[in-house]
Amino acid sequence: MARILVVEDERLLRELLVSHLQLEGYDVRSAADGEQGLAEAREFEPEVCVLDVMLPRLDGLSLCRILRRELDPGIIMLTARASEIDRVIGLDSGADDYVVKPFSLPELTARVRAALRRAPSQRTQPVLQSGDLKVDLTAHRAWRDAHELRLTHKEFELLALLMRNRGAVLTRDLLLSQVWGDDFEGDPRTIDVHVRWLREKIEEDPSRPLRLQTVRGVGYRFD
Ligand code: CA
Repeated sequence: MARILVVEDERLLRELLVSHLQLEGYDVRSAADGEQGLAEAREFEPEVCVLDVMLPRLDGLSLCRILRRELDPGIIMLTARASEIDRVIGLDSGADDYVVKPFSLPELTARVRAALRRAPSQRTQPVLQSGDLKVDLTAHRAWRDAHELRLTHKEFELLALLMRNRGAVLTRDLLLSQVWGDDFEGDPRTIDVHVRWLREKIEEDPSRPLRLQTVRGVGYRFD
């Protein structure tokens, strides 16, 4: 029976999540604030943690970082505002996934199941793979089929970031701050130019991209 820890300070939502996940057959424990959540996690060693971002005493993102370092469970963040999403999916948070409130219980259950499917070894794997595309984060090299791709440093960082967050839309602001740094003062369209170059290298038909999708008015997504 997989162990799930729910850390959420809103009592009704916490109780609802716990009873729903128990009905799904999981061994569930819960905590009402970040510090209690950390103590519970250390004792219970959950396979998946569902963490609210806004928590009293120790906030959800700090808790997420500690758990990632100490226990490496699957981590799903609950966010209340779209404005929190950028921080949640930022590389340094260590979260695997997120859902935006209000969400449906089946939606959350599906995310929990997906997080359980990703074995810990896969999460810490330095090699990302998608179809015939392979990215080795340690060696800083990428291949398509057996052919090594000639990527610039920025193209490599951009591809790795998008692949790590597969399925999630990453905004231009997030991509700029993660790949170019917070002090970047150039043209934000730099991102679009690099995406175009990247598509030339990883897409069958760069004019009709299947992997690196544009999400109009928002940013990009790797599928
Ligand atoms: Ca909260």
